[in-house]
Amino acid sequence: MGSKKNSLSKSTLIRSIQCSKSLYLYKNQYNLRDKPNAVQQQKFDRGHRVGKLAHQLFPGGKDCSPPNPFSYDESVAATRLLVQQQFPVIYEAAFRYNGILAALDMLVLKDGKWYAYEVKSSLRISATYLLDATIQYYVITRSGLPLEDFFIVNINSDYVLSETLEVDQYFKKTSVLHEIQERIPFVEKTIENAIETLSMSTIPEVTIGPHCTKPYPCDFQGYCWKELDKSSIWYLPGISMQEKSVLKERGVDMIDQLEITDDLNARQKVIVESYQRQMPYIRKDKLADFLSVIQYPLYYFDVEAFQPAIPIFTGTKPYERMPFLYSLHYKESQESPLQHRDYISPVGTDNRRNFIADFLDATTGQGSILVFNTLMEKGVLFRLASDFPEYKNEIFQRINRIIDIEIPFKEMYYYHPKQEGSFSLKAIGNAMLQRDEFAKGSVKDGEEAMAMYNELFYQPDDAGHPRSLQQLKDYCATDTFVLYEIVEALKRLV
Ligand code: SF4
Repeated sequence: MGSKKNSLSKSTLIRSIQCSKSLYLYKNQYNLRDKPNAVQQQKFDRGHRVGKLAHQLFPGGKDCSPPNPFSYDESVAATRLLVQQQFPVIYEAAFRYNGILAALDMLVLKDGKWYAYEVKSSLRISATYLLDATIQYYVITRSGLPLEDFFIVNINSDYVLSETLEVDQYFKKTSVLHEIQERIPFVEKTIENAIETLSMSTIPEVTIGPHCTKPYPCDFQGYCWKELDKSSIWYLPGISMQEKSVLKERGVDMIDQLEITDDLNARQKVIVESYQRQMPYIRKDKLADFLSVIQYPLYYFDVEAFQPAIPIFTGTKPYERMPFLYSLHYKESQESPLQHRDYISPVGTDNRRNFIADFLDATTGQGSILVFNTLMEKGVLFRLASDFPEYKNEIFQRINRIIDIEIPFKEMYYYHPKQEGSFSLKAIGNAMLQRDEFAKGSVKDGEEAMAMYNELFYQPDDAGHPRSLQQLKDYCATDTFVLYEIVEALKRLV
């Protein structure tokens, strides 16, 4: 394990468990990697912020972070020196054993014994986190530093923010030493396999499969999938990667080869048949029944919410969904013009009361409130009703008027082959309207909108805020406009 190219780290070992080809490409053809998107960048920034906050659990430590990702030798040397000096708290302590590098968020000396603390910005401890911890434990102890215990520090889901953030209560520490010891033989085997992969002179032959998306979406998909025929079974929509693997094993390579048998469920049969005939599937009777309950005036409604890992407003929990934007298209009757209204919370203050008042004002009276997938909108409204009981009755009146336009698509009253197995508003809109309304905007989806608004709270220079807020409003308005167009298209069908 001499050269940098062949050195391993916690993240490259985790990558190798998912796919040996991914490890090889990462080390030898890094430039083939897909570029990280805004959501991935926001997750990285969030992890960094939560990690920094956790330093307050053990204040006064020395930070061994490298000046850049290529200078870990300096971090390893600095950590070694601080350990020799018995410095009580070390942040980003770095260790190397047999060419494997592992950095640890916090190393703490207490009563002459060393304790490891690794911070995760999530509410639960996943199997991958336990493997992460095992690799760290393995490298630290094999490099010569015995550890008395190893803790994963993650976010306490029950924490409620009071006036100031109490770091001790926001985080919880869980000893995972027992879980680590169980996993050491697996990690040793993983290291052996990874060393073997890196000693290969050509790219390992790994076929596409469920490992391309689980446990994480692989960032070499752009490379591996680009040569694949668009009629390949891997592009068959609406069927899990696992089911596609089974079909491949049975010799079904192309979608056209697939027979519509009882092995497929009702939804899969519709998707495959519709794909093979390249024709939409329509149940006019069911659609007519569904549409008959919709009553004018019509409100086409969409909410965007963000979920800060570190609560920002008093009385809220980590990752609590906070609505910040709604868009409403409105039509008094079939003949009247389409009108629009929206509300966006200014960055930095808790504007939920204004949000509620504006929404209630915009939806006064009767008429159906149409949404696409009620989970978000109803979830947000129920939460607002519970947090602001003075508005409860009015909010419930609005909830009772909500109709979910996703139902006819989920229930397969309508399916278009161009949906390609997706039941998102965007996929359905593009397929039914034969154009992409979202292509005009800079925000791609709800996840990106959430990430974008969240980051505005951490940008001290707010000169760019108005532009970002406008982009978010445009995105949300597109959502409700497409919803309006989809309902019109369904009406024309029946
Ligand atoms: S896309 Fe799939 S096959 Fe290719 S490197 Fe990633 S996991 Fe491996």
